[in-house]
Amino acid sequence: MHVLVTGGAGFIGSHYVRMLLSRPGSRGLTITVLDKLSYAGNPANLAEWEADERFRFRRGDICDRALLDEVLPGADCVVHFAAESHVDRSIEDGDVFLCTNVLGTQRLLEASLRHGVGKFVHVSTDEVYGSIDQGSWPETDPLRPNSPYSASKASSDLLVLAFHRTHGLDVSVTRCSNNYGPMQYPEKVVPLFLTRLIDGLPVPLYGDGRQVRDWLHVEDHCHGIELVRSGGRPGEVYNLGGGTELSNRDLTERLLAVTGSDWSSVRRVPDRKGHDLRYSVDWSKAREELGYLPTRDFASGLEATARWYRDHPGWWRPLGRRLPKALSGSV
Ligand code: NAD
Repeated sequence: MHVLVTGGAGFIGSHYVRMLLSRPGSRGLTITVLDKLSYAGNPANLAEWEADERFRFRRGDICDRALLDEVLPGADCVVHFAAESHVDRSIEDGDVFLCTNVLGTQRLLEASLRHGVGKFVHVSTDEVYGSIDQGSWPETDPLRPNSPYSASKASSDLLVLAFHRTHGLDVSVTRCSNNYGPMQYPEKVVPLFLTRLIDGLPVPLYGDGRQVRDWLHVEDHCHGIELVRSGGRPGEVYNLGGGTELSNRDLTERLLAVTGSDWSSVRRVPDRKGHDLRYSVDWSKAREELGYLPTRDFASGLEATARWYRDHPGWWRPLGRRLPKALSGSV
């Protein structure tokens, strides 16, 4: 089986590649990673596979039709992670979000059709549903995205599903909650806070910190994606949750604890524009149909993640400390 992984040099994509290539029975499997290496793509995430004959890396943009016609022939399936993924950046400048997340997905779908790809898995997000005060969204809930990022992801979800309906392409869409784990670019809250607290620097907390997110270890997420790739029904959406809902304040408390810091390191900053109050996906469909069950306990997963950042400064220090405009000057 040959798998094309887009965005495989990023956080989740590189964990997915590692999961596939490390597991027993991966003989006969080959992977090509197609990645533009944006600021968030890091070749170090894939360095361990450089000499592995099952692995190939191609630097390039998913919007590039000619390149797609080179890398797609022979691919049995596409697992599509490539995206611009940071909400704050989408509020600053949304153009690249539309280019990559919408046009790039459209180009990839067209190329998958041209080259007879057997399965297309689109990795999406719970943010496409908007914000929910109580309860959890099933996959049938309407999409009500509130940020340029989530609006671009919702658009790409709809395109993917339209390719199933219009052309019969075998697609599945996954919508997962907030991921955490090693090798996440230090702009998202967990690695941003950990890398700053490790260095004794202050961290910025948006508004009153009441926003609630569900947390999923990246390895559990990758396991869920693989269940969907191998057993997901064509044209279906699968929510993948983690089962640990925390307010940003509670999360901050835990991040302070695992780094031996206290609240004197926290700076309150004005809330993010249009900040969604709560995300919560109902993932019973993936559990019942595919046996999806996250196994990583959040407390020990967070401790292990903090340890990883402490032990690997050589991974994150070279990336610098650029903050989104909304946060710069605040810490
Ligand atoms: P990331 O930013 O770490 O990685 C994205 C990767 O895509 C990078 O390697 C980047 O170089 C590459 N890329 C960007 N534009 C490209 C283009 N035009 N052509 C080719 N490659 C390009 O993101 P991530 O956190 O690993 O997220 C992966 C996917 O999972 C995204 O689609 C995101 O929407 C989704 N998702 C992420 C989370 C999360 O918590 N991180 C939660 C839900 C869904």
